[in-house]
Amino acid sequence: MTLLRIENLKKAFGDIHALRGVSLSVEKNEIYGFIGRNGAGKTTTLNILMSFLRKDAGRIIFAGEEIGFLDVAYKKKIGFVPDVPAFPPYLTGREVLTFAADFLGIHENKREKVEEALAFSGLKDVRQKVGTYSRGMRQRLSIAQALLGDSQLLVMDEPTSALDPVGRREVLDLIKRLKEERTILYSTHILSDAESVADRIGLIDKGKILLESPMAEIKKTKDLTAYIVQTDLPVEELAEKLETEPFIKETKAEEDGLLCLLSGEGAEKRLLSRLSGLDLTVYKFVEKTPSLEDAFVEVLHENAR
Ligand code: ATP
Repeated sequence: MTLLRIENLKKAFGDIHALRGVSLSVEKNEIYGFIGRNGAGKTTTLNILMSFLRKDAGRIIFAGEEIGFLDVAYKKKIGFVPDVPAFPPYLTGREVLTFAADFLGIHENKREKVEEALAFSGLKDVRQKVGTYSRGMRQRLSIAQALLGDSQLLVMDEPTSALDPVGRREVLDLIKRLKEERTILYSTHILSDAESVADRIGLIDKGKILLESPMAEIKKTKDLTAYIVQTDLPVEELAEKLETEPFIKETKAEEDGLLCLLSGEGAEKRLLSRLSGLDLTVYKFVEKTPSLEDAFVEVLHENAR
């Protein structure tokens, strides 16, 4: 079932057309990874969804109903998690959530709801003040806060970008666990994060959605094959010799050799025959599963042509 549908959303800031007709849909109980480069339009889309910003045109449909600006009933059903949440540093996490519950008008079972949210985010036994929290703990508190109401949809804007690897892992694990009871729309430019948690991906660039697809299908539909090639030539030199070949879409220097993204029929054989025609020794020729990043680069290339 579709929980959220955005249709043809447009927004300009003076001459800058930040959104040029964004359409996407988020299914119930999925994690939707909203990915794109810096400046692609992710934050603008999410800000409009949260009524932090007015749209110029387009429609937002939530649970089958069209939503207007600052719609109170709708706002109660969505929780927001910013990239760097700010809390009064002298409060404990429990106090922050208690105030938030008051603010949200939660009177019935307030204590239980606060304790539940603290336990879910792994902060139940933390007594210290928020000012001494790590960034990862602060982000988990922000997620706990977004869980307090009856929010069916959690909108998260780059929730992991300001975190160190440990904090990131904790927040991603929390996001994965949330899927059982909530729906998550999650923006990021860290593609490996999206790859590890998202069920579906929407790729935005220059204010337009270029691709929307289940994660598992992206690599298949993109007709990509990737090989790591290591020779006695420096990778840069090898790249120069190969990148003009029509069956090579992209090359990238990696730790263990040159990553070659291939496409088209017989590309693998053509690469082998090209290599054998060069005056070099091949040490490694190994197939690699293309990553989300490889697919991302490919889609951006296709659209730039
Ligand atoms: P980032 O990850 O860098 O935040 P993003 O995908 O979230 O990128 P947006 O912040 O939505 O991108 O920006 C989309 C475009 O709109 C950019 O060109 C940006 O410079 C522009 N923009 C966003 N907000 C404003 C504003 N208030 N005034 C003018 N231009 C804006």
